Amino acid sequence: MVVLNQMRKSGGFWLKLDNVNILHDPGPGSLVMVHQLGLKPKDLDAIILSHRHVDHSNDVNVMTEAMTGGGFTPKGRLIVPSDCLFPDPVILQYVRPFVEIKEIKKGLEMTLKDIIIKFPIENKHPVETYGVIYTIKSGRLGYIPDTEYFPELVQAYAGVDFLIINVVRMKTDKRIRHLNMDEAAEIINKIRPKKAILTHFGLQVLKSSPERQAKIISEKTGVEVIAAQDEVTINF
Ligand SMILES: [Zn+2]
Repeated sequence: MVVLNQMRKSGGFWLKLDNVNILHDPGPGSLVMVHQLGLKPKDLDAIILSHRHVDHSNDVNVMTEAMTGGGFTPKGRLIVPSDCLFPDPVILQYVRPFVEIKEIKKGLEMTLKDIIIKFPIENKHPVETYGVIYTIKSGRLGYIPDTEYFPELVQAYAGVDFLIINVVRMKTDKRIRHLNMDEAAEIINKIRPKKAILTHFGLQVLKSSPERQAKIISEKTGVEVIAAQDEVTINF
């Protein structure tokens, strides 16, 4: 509902990690926001989809075109779960030759210029979904996208210095398989990164003030917790 009513922007996040530019989860409006923020799609080295749901993938084709100059200058990687390609593709056939496509599998690790990208575990969500750990000069950055809670998550992301975590609910609704705020707090408390960023808020979270929730978790755990806002820039 937050995306459909554009109560928050839904273009995903742009990572500038050492000299590598990655667009993660380009949902509806990604192309528009990238230009509004003065970012240059041709600077991208990769586009990554955590999963095929439309709030994470809607703009993937147009962003691939933008990264590759409409396909005239093929470059970059498109890193996606296999169900984004077959049998009901979100990656259109005609854009595929513009880019190097990599299918995510649990445990896949790759280098991109000076950084290492690893997909440590498959999440529990209605479609194939993967989070990621980036190893960069300043440490390790983890992203836990949409998932219901399961204990192995903590082990999979143990030791990360920075953690981005999608928290959609205040109370769990088993039908939609998302983390709630208490579960996010538990994960943060067990992993204990230097900095944690909450994002992907549903209506319940927006009504409960993401900033207040972040403060509560900070006070409870002693970890710096930030509630993401539209157009925010965060340094690692
Ligand atoms: Zn989803």
